Amino acid sequence: MSNDRPRRGVMFVISSPSGAGKTTLCRRLITEVPGVELSISATTRAKRPNEVDGVDYHFRTVAQFKDMIDKNAFIEWAKVFEHYYGTPVSEVEQRLQAGIDVVFDVDWQGARALKTIRAGDVVSAFILPPSIAKLKERLEGRPGATAKGVAGRLAGAGQDILRWGEYDYAIVNDNLDSAFSELRAILLAERTRRQRASLGNMVDQLLKDSGLGD
Ligand code: ADP
Ligand code: 5GP
Repeated sequence: MSNDRPRRGVMFVISSPSGAGKTTLCRRLITEVPGVELSISATTRAKRPNEVDGVDYHFRTVAQFKDMIDKNAFIEWAKVFEHYYGTPVSEVEQRLQAGIDVVFDVDWQGARALKTIRAGDVVSAFILPPSIAKLKERLEGRPGATAKGVAGRLAGAGQDILRWGEYDYAIVNDNLDSAFSELRAILLAERTRRQRASLGNMVDQLLKDSGLGD
């Protein structure tokens, strides 16, 4: 017997200091795990050479972003490294209702807001770099990296790491494959959390067939 309705999707919220690898991990989750989609944020920061508008972010001017704020088009938004970032409402509700899991690559402010607004839907994971030296190497190796950008992100890393205790799970991204396996395992386990499973009718039927139900 099939479920009476699809389970509600998980809001899988992932944060890390910039450069620790969350974008890489989130993209891999979307590619390798069926039924998962990425919430594409809007931002006012400049596009990096390898990024595509509408795929990595919805790139917007400050005026366009502020207009979206005025129209309540964001579930949450925050200023990070002098730029605006926000989660559009349109990225979320329909997918959750259709049983699709949505991954959010947001900073600690975004994670806090999403947990407050949608406590029952959110599962959160914090990605830690193995060391600050490796974090620096990764920031420097990223396409479009500038000395100023790297220095700013490194200076802000501590402020992000300080918040790791607010998350449900913590993953050290040293070996990419291991970190990815852990992230995938968390999502697969959370999908079967009893409260999310929508199995009421099926279990009623099982009880009935076993002679216990009415
Ligand atoms: P974030 O989204 O957290 O800012 P990215 O996913 O953009 O970080 O990763 C920063 C850089 O580090 C990228 O060039 C990426 O390819 C690289 N990277 C990510 N994870 C690892 C890893 N486990 N080992 C080595 N390099 C990595
Ligand atoms: P980057 O410019 O490196 O892509 O992202 C910078 C920071 O902004 C990261 O910590 C990223 O998680 C965060 N970020 C991206 N999109 C959003 C969003 O929609 N909301 C919030 N609060 N943070 C975001």
